[in-house]
Amino acid sequence: MGETISDPLPIRRLQETLINRIAAGEVIHRPASALKELLENCLDAGATSIRVTVKDGGLKLLQIQDNGCGIRRADLPILAERFTTSKLTSFSDLSKIATYGFRGEALASMSHVSHLSVVTKTKTETCAWKASYSYGKLVETQPGQTPDPKPCAGNDGTTITIEDLFYNTPTRLSALRSPAEEYSRILDVLTKYAIHNPGVAFICKKAGTAAPDLSTPSSSSTTQAIGMLYGHSIAKELLSTETSSSTEPDTAEFWRAEVHFTNANYQSKKTIFLLFINHRLVESSRMKRALEATYNGVLPKGSFPFIYLSLVLDPRSVDVNVHPTKKEVHFLNEEAISEQIADALLQTLTSKGQSRVFQYQTLLTGADTDRVTSKKRKGKEPERDPDLGTEGTLEPNSTQEESRKKVSSHLKVRTSLKDRTLDSMFPVMNPSQMEGSSSSRDVEKTEAAQSRDIRESECILTSVLNLRNATIKGKHRALTEILERHTFVGIVDVNQCLSLLQHSTHLYLVNHAALGEELFYQLGLRQFGNMSKLKLEPPPPLKALVTIAVQAEQLPDKTPLNKDQIIDRIVNIIMSRRDMLSEYFSLTITSDGFVASLPLLLRDYTPNLDKVPSFLMRLGPQVDWTSEQECFRTFLRELARFYVPGPVAPFDPSGPQAQSQEQQQQERAERWQIEHVVFPCMKRYLHAPKSLLDNDVVQVANLPDLYKVFERC
Ligand code: ADP
Ligand code: MG
Repeated sequence: MGETISDPLPIRRLQETLINRIAAGEVIHRPASALKELLENCLDAGATSIRVTVKDGGLKLLQIQDNGCGIRRADLPILAERFTTSKLTSFSDLSKIATYGFRGEALASMSHVSHLSVVTKTKTETCAWKASYSYGKLVETQPGQTPDPKPCAGNDGTTITIEDLFYNTPTRLSALRSPAEEYSRILDVLTKYAIHNPGVAFICKKAGTAAPDLSTPSSSSTTQAIGMLYGHSIAKELLSTETSSSTEPDTAEFWRAEVHFTNANYQSKKTIFLLFINHRLVESSRMKRALEATYNGVLPKGSFPFIYLSLVLDPRSVDVNVHPTKKEVHFLNEEAISEQIADALLQTLTSKGQSRVFQYQTLLTGADTDRVTSKKRKGKEPERDPDLGTEGTLEPNSTQEESRKKVSSHLKVRTSLKDRTLDSMFPVMNPSQMEGSSSSRDVEKTEAAQSRDIRESECILTSVLNLRNATIKGKHRALTEILERHTFVGIVDVNQCLSLLQHSTHLYLVNHAALGEELFYQLGLRQFGNMSKLKLEPPPPLKALVTIAVQAEQLPDKTPLNKDQIIDRIVNIIMSRRDMLSEYFSLTITSDGFVASLPLLLRDYTPNLDKVPSFLMRLGPQVDWTSEQECFRTFLRELARFYVPGPVAPFDPSGPQAQSQEQQQQERAERWQIEHVVFPCMKRYLHAPKSLLDNDVVQVANLPDLYKVFERC
């Protein structure tokens, strides 16, 4: 009890100058924040040309000259008093307009922490006036003079000069790093305002130097401005979109947004994010995160976009409790607005943004592998990207045909020097080594293949379970039963992928590539995370494989990316997903870029390894890397497409082509595999979807009818 509680200190009223200095510190943190306030004043005054001069990072001198409306002589005495502004007239305006930052604090604050002077002239005045301020009041410009504004020569507009910033607040001063850093912050603020105001000419230079460090013309577009200030590499990859609330313009909920952002071709180490809310440069880490997130999967990990967003909100919905000069803002419906903007961005990104990539995708579909499969895809699988379809069909048919023809010949890929290298990269495990189908050895093999169970892997991922459920749900009972109980009659045409099956008294003509693709897709899903590996020894380099496939493509005349860039992009995409590909799909790629193993979906069945380059190439553009479930689905689709039996090059109906011995062997092996491995496997594992009935399974006859025909003979 004997302890003495220290007596309370008397509460004292702070000295007004101290209050003002503290307040000033809230508005002006550093030269760049002073400049921001000054710039906003110039722009509010309607300036179309703004010149900034800086000495010692703005600490010695920060001068800003504009050609705006100027300040009336009569207003000069109170210009630097707190809460003097020309932008608020009545109290009722306050709630609406205060949030713009019109509080009449900026100049007042600066006069408390620097030597502030103004030269200004309105159009109607015959001369300019010069005034100096200290602690909110007019002071004499030169010793011995009166503090009153002095007439002087000058142009229309205003020049504000700030000298010795923070001369009387040493703590603030010592918190600043270096003049060089302050200068670069100044340039950063100016650059951003120049992007937001492409119709205004900006110049910034260090005092005493002739060449400006920043200079923009007075009329350019946003894209031009971005190109000038952030570089061509960003400007050429820019997309833009606009979106707004569904409410009427005069309501408090109304907002609209304009976004300019880079597509998937641009990657930077850090996000460049410019956010203007009601034409003020602000920060919102939430908004930034929301927009960045749309690039997940579009850009490889560790790569970031450029985004410039201008958002106009009703001032009433901006949080008035947050000091307007605090950069981090909050506003009403922040989450919903961010989400809608992010959606708009993503939509543009995936439609227009990817269509560039698609220019070679179209060609790929036209150029690689069997035609039957690609035809089938078009009909059934909704393309990921709505624009893709249109762009594909927009191309004149003839050129598409032509480009397909040019690359379609078997020989094109196979005789190229690079491909030879490819052949030598692969181990000798070509199915063509399995000879004719009638030997007893093969029959044994078949039985072995049939009796081997393919267990469904245990998987707890909802996405995979969803996909598995979808195949069960989509199963067409009757068709599945036909395939379960069928008797294989024979292959009708290897090139067109047609086989004949019998079930009870009916004969069916089926597209074995289409059925096979569905089967392999489901096998992939069944063994997700637990696939066997098809080892490649020695492992071929990923880049070389992708190069072979891309080089075989005929690019349209105008592509934004050249082949080398396309190759790099694809390799990057695959490399950045290496871990996932290996864990879930047994597609192992070494850290130095060699393909060590491919997923093995079905024992006794080796996919045509000539398709490896095209398989890897397609993983870039054809797999949807943005969402887990879609990623797995599209990857497994591509894998199935790779596995499907069928020729590498599209079937050429123009006539029989001379086949090399190797090709003949390959074909024989394929026939054997279709009959003895693929169809038997289908009996056990395929949940045949109804969609196969559309094109790929046709009842050609039933025996009773045929008997009738023969009876008549
Ligand atoms: P606010 O911008 O919130 O009104 P400031 O302290 O930034 O407060 O500016 C005070 C007033 O000074 C402005 O309202 C405006 O009338 C005048 N002013 C400041 N800078 C300029 C300028 N560059 N051109 C014309 N008027 C200006
Ligand atoms: Mg202002």
